[in-house]
Amino acid sequence: MTELFQRLDAKKSKDIRVLGNFISIFCRENHQAEVRSVFPIKDERLGEVLGDRDLELCRDCSKLLNHGIAKLMLCPYDPKPMCKKCETHCYAPGYREKIREVMRFSGLYLVKHGRLDLMFHYLF
Ligand SMILES: [Zn+2]
Repeated sequence: MTELFQRLDAKKSKDIRVLGNFISIFCRENHQAEVRSVFPIKDERLGEVLGDRDLELCRDCSKLLNHGIAKLMLCPYDPKPMCKKCETHCYAPGYREKIREVMRFSGLYLVKHGRLDLMFHYLF
């Protein structure tokens, strides 16, 4: 996966940070009963993007975040459109529904908690 991150620019960095935030909020609020562990970061650049804070995620959410990061890095469009307006459905079946649920839930969560600063914009 390391080669992938050579194309990590400011915009993609921000998108990945938002993605990590949204999935970690969703997991924290919905999957307390699951076994959760620190999301493994295998690339230094990715580590910088996600910040020094560890993301605690269950297995499914870890997989979802990995999938989302890979898709972001491989997005053929520049600039990347908002996913919900994009005609290319690049997420694998199952992940697409899941990420929309995450975005809806965490977006609403941040609004309710007055954390619009963490929202930036909806990615999906
Ligand atoms: Zn989870």
